[in-house]
Amino acid sequence: MTVAERRAALEGVAAEVRACTRCRLHETRTHAVPGEGDPDTEVMFVGEGPGMHEDREGRPFVGRAGGLLVGLLGHIGWRRDDVFITNVVKCRPPGNRDPEPDEIAACAPYLRRQLEALDPSVVTTLGRFSMATFMPGVRITQAHGTTRQADPGTGARDATVFAMYHPAYALRNPAVERESYEDIERLPRILVDARERRASAGPAGPVAAAPTTVPAPQATMAMPAATMPAPAAAPDLATHHATPSTSDLLGDAVESDQLTLF
Ligand code: URA
Ligand code: SF4
Repeated sequence: MTVAERRAALEGVAAEVRACTRCRLHETRTHAVPGEGDPDTEVMFVGEGPGMHEDREGRPFVGRAGGLLVGLLGHIGWRRDDVFITNVVKCRPPGNRDPEPDEIAACAPYLRRQLEALDPSVVTTLGRFSMATFMPGVRITQAHGTTRQADPGTGARDATVFAMYHPAYALRNPAVERESYEDIERLPRILVDARERRASAGPAGPVAAAPTTVPAPQATMAMPAATMPAPAAAPDLATHHATPSTSDLLGDAVESDQLTLF
């Protein structure tokens, strides 16, 4: 898919979400929150569901939890506009209660279509409900900071899933907040690994292309920076490929358990 096609597909999903009445959450919402971000990104963040501020604005992670998410991204030199941010359920559960299984199931096709459109290399889950979509049966106290290969049934064709605590939980627990900063430090390295794995697996699509065509899609995946606007902007995702700090992370991660999961 071209970037324009991705953008159009994401806008199509967003329009349907804004008009959706598939579950009871539509009755109490002010605004549905489809998600937002760079349609050409390699990294998607998936939270739980909109809170009060998100419901008011129709945008994900704009309250205090969003402030921490932006802080976590800033810690590794990324900005929220560099990634795509969405939630498991697109409408606010009243009083911020947990989403019910039938609400999650009703909303799941939207997340699946967003994953199909973006085809991210990395999906970062924020909190238990998002993690359960991609890593069923694991406990967040054990799984946070670790990766799994995404089941293509989720809509993520070939993605590494990276589990993190929910920022709202981290805000209530300083130890969890510290762990979240440590966890996110792994993300640039995880992205590099995911890119390399995808590149070695060959180009997307059901029909394998001839070997001579392989370098072009690989280069495209490795260089989303080419489409990014200002050279003065904060470091983009692709520059992590070559920075010394990434080299340090590369060295560290050789010892880390996430590599054994592949
Ligand atoms: N918490 C979430 O899970 N998602 C948001 O968008 C905001 C807060
Ligand atoms: Fe539709 Fe999802 Fe909102 Fe339910 S939560 S009304 S399924 S968009």
